[in-house]
Amino acid sequence: MTDCLFCKIVSGDVPAEIVRESAGTVAFRDINPQAPTHVLVIPREHHPTAAELAAADAGLLAEVVREAHQVAVDEGVADGGYRLVLNTGAQAGQTVFHVHAHVLGGRGLNWPPG
Ligand code: 5GP
Ligand code: ZN
Repeated sequence: MTDCLFCKIVSGDVPAEIVRESAGTVAFRDINPQAPTHVLVIPREHHPTAAELAAADAGLLAEVVREAHQVAVDEGVADGGYRLVLNTGAQAGQTVFHVHAHVLGGRGLNWPPG
């Protein structure tokens, strides 16, 4: 999609600090980190939400989750624990409608989240 921010990160038209790439995904640091580790993992293909990605290509959603875990391992937060967040819809705080998994870790994380 031409006017999608995360499609532009995939294409290289918008710069990002990329930490990991796979055939189907790109992982990059969030521009406004909420924890010492805050990385976004996205499919290269444009799908607006997690549910739409699951319906279109369940294997690609699984790749997003596998890559998110590998980011947590690489960042040293997998053993202590990390949070995987898929905000879905405006009321849940989704601002970019290209599905992205937030990988948050490196500090204690409250539950329930705000
Ligand atoms: P959402 O609120 O949709 O779940 O998450 C969108 C995330 O994208 C936010 O955490 C926000 O900080 C991040 N973000 C927005 N614009 C950019 C950008 O241009 N570059 C990067 N790296 N992250 C961004
Ligand atoms: Zn997109």
